[in-house]
Amino acid sequence: MRRALALARRAAGWTSPNPMVGCLILRAGCLIGEGFHAYYGGAHAEARALASVSDPELLRGATMVVTLEPCAHWGKTPPCTELIIRSGIRRVLVGALDPLMGGRGVARLREAGLEVETGLLEAECRELNAGFFTWARLGRPWIALKIAQSLDGRVATRTGSSRWVTAVPARRWVHRCRARVDAVLVGTGTVAADDPALTVRHVRGRQPWRVVLDRRGSLPADRRLFTDSLCGRTWVFTAPGVVPSYAEQLLQCGGRIFSVPEGPGGLDLAAVLERLAREGVRTVLVEAGPRLATALIRAGLVDRLYCLIAPKLVGSGLEAIGELGVWEMDQARPLAFHRLRRIGPDLLIEATVDSPGGGECSPVS
Ligand SMILES: [Zn+2]
Repeated sequence: MRRALALARRAAGWTSPNPMVGCLILRAGCLIGEGFHAYYGGAHAEARALASVSDPELLRGATMVVTLEPCAHWGKTPPCTELIIRSGIRRVLVGALDPLMGGRGVARLREAGLEVETGLLEAECRELNAGFFTWARLGRPWIALKIAQSLDGRVATRTGSSRWVTAVPARRWVHRCRARVDAVLVGTGTVAADDPALTVRHVRGRQPWRVVLDRRGSLPADRRLFTDSLCGRTWVFTAPGVVPSYAEQLLQCGGRIFSVPEGPGGLDLAAVLERLAREGVRTVLVEAGPRLATALIRAGLVDRLYCLIAPKLVGSGLEAIGELGVWEMDQARPLAFHRLRRIGPDLLIEATVDSPGGGECSPVS
């Protein structure tokens, strides 16, 4: 299953809104075939693994290992369950059940007399497609919040200087991260102050959608997101009835403008995320400043925190995260450290957020 997971990961960034899937075929303990779902609309992992076996006779009585429950429905390709049944495979080991399948894939295989085991490395198999599983459960994308801060928790000095907090290797890591998510999300403040390109530059990979919350449409039209060669990948969210000054140039190059309702402090974040989900976005990397970051945390809309910590002290300056309404220590938002690693001179702490479930929602633009 670990090998199947590694295979699946080769397609990171290319299968969305479909999940990544890896598949192996074993016979008498020997690997005789393997495959993965390489891109959206392409053949499923099971079909590719079956096709990779040199002699179809070898499949009689063989075992399949697959990270996600095989599909039992006609989608862009025929159902994998039927291919597996016809192939003569006798045993199937499944990592995670497919929330969209409701167990029908496994039931179909069992009904045809195959031996099926589920739950093998299930946590890893679900983590592989955190976006897909989050969307299936909550109807919104999986949200990762990236913060690059000094050891004392500052993202900028008191004059607003923020370039650069972390060193080149950490910034390259951010580019790799962008290539793996469907969309990168920023607020008005970040675009106004930093004019970021939010592109994948230092590594090879797919360019994510660049999503900007510009409630009043007040951003200057000369920003890179509205003028560079990738402006067709820029999506702007505004309040209803707002026509930004850059609207025409953005629409001309293929960018899009969505309007969503407002809340007390800005745009309704839940509405933004729901709209992104409808556009096929399953994973979002938030590279916003403290205002939007804080609003997302307050609203219970952050699933993973990527905190890059530079070995430097800034003293007074801009805090990474603002007011969370925490008065007593036992009200602090609980996190669990998921992974810790060094990237060049910096540290990356990956934490999972034990969110309150998104009941509260304080929107922001
Ligand atoms: Zn399938």
